[in-house]
Amino acid sequence: MAFGEFDLIETYFTHRLPQRDDVTVGIGDDGAVASVPEKSDLVVVTDTMVQGVHFDQDTPARAIGHKIVAVNLSDLAAMGAEPAWISLALTLPEINDEWLTGFAHGLREICEYYNCQLIGGDTTQGPLSITVTAHGFVPNGKAIRRSGAKPGDWLYVSGTLGDAGLALAARQHRQKLNPDYERRLTERLYFPSARVALGQSLRGIASSAIDVSDGLLADVGHILKASHVGARISVDELPLSLAVTESLSAEQAITYALTSGDDYELLFTVPEAQRGLFDTVTAHSPSKPVCIGRITNEPELVQLRFGDEAWELPEGLAGFEHFRKTELSQ
Ligand SMILES: [Mg+2]
Repeated sequence: MAFGEFDLIETYFTHRLPQRDDVTVGIGDDGAVASVPEKSDLVVVTDTMVQGVHFDQDTPARAIGHKIVAVNLSDLAAMGAEPAWISLALTLPEINDEWLTGFAHGLREICEYYNCQLIGGDTTQGPLSITVTAHGFVPNGKAIRRSGAKPGDWLYVSGTLGDAGLALAARQHRQKLNPDYERRLTERLYFPSARVALGQSLRGIASSAIDVSDGLLADVGHILKASHVGARISVDELPLSLAVTESLSAEQAITYALTSGDDYELLFTVPEAQRGLFDTVTAHSPSKPVCIGRITNEPELVQLRFGDEAWELPEGLAGFEHFRKTELSQ
């Protein structure tokens, strides 16, 4: 059942949202009309968030509005794309003015920040679920893919890892944190940054890239599979926030960094020949990418090292994907 979608979308989402020159027809017709710049490719990504699966009932509406856009822009960033337009499909159990106002606020803030225009929307009645499709541009042939990593390339990751996973564990009373750390980490869980500027700066430099949504090991696995290579990762080089290192044992911190999802950092490979350029381009990057390992020629094999020694996930976590799913479904 529809709510009268144009009224609802117009009431909550069309005011004070960015209006771009490349959009000829936006919300209000059967479809949007927009132009892709010359000599550019269009990159299209979609993500869905469902209550009870991707977020719990206590998650503020503003955070959900922010995050559904951020996760899409993170995928665009991983492709090296510049964001331009989004469309929104919203399934709601009821029309709740307070929730819709908060959700629209979160969505608007991040769209304004990245000059991203909402060009279409649909609303339906049902269990709470939000889908956003985001569109972005890259110069012809310059999209960064998962499939370009070569043996010898260096493996980098931006920001810090494990923050969102630890925040989720604290919210679910599986970890105790001091209130200051809990507040900081919850901000990372609810309001992730999309590494949009970093992604664009990696065009022509990174040989492959992905965003860390499922957890470092799972996502590095996607690059290895697509590129038919392996990786050696120095777990003692993984970038960790103070909140993570101060709240957990070293082994726990590394385990969170390797297996918990939702951090939305960029994971990418840089060939030796591009390393100087890469250092120059990212010298002032606020998300400070660090080198965590190297690509090897053994297909899909991940070797974890701590210093000169082999390192293994704690007993029972070898199937780390299951570990993460258990976390989310609790
Ligand atoms: Mg992704």
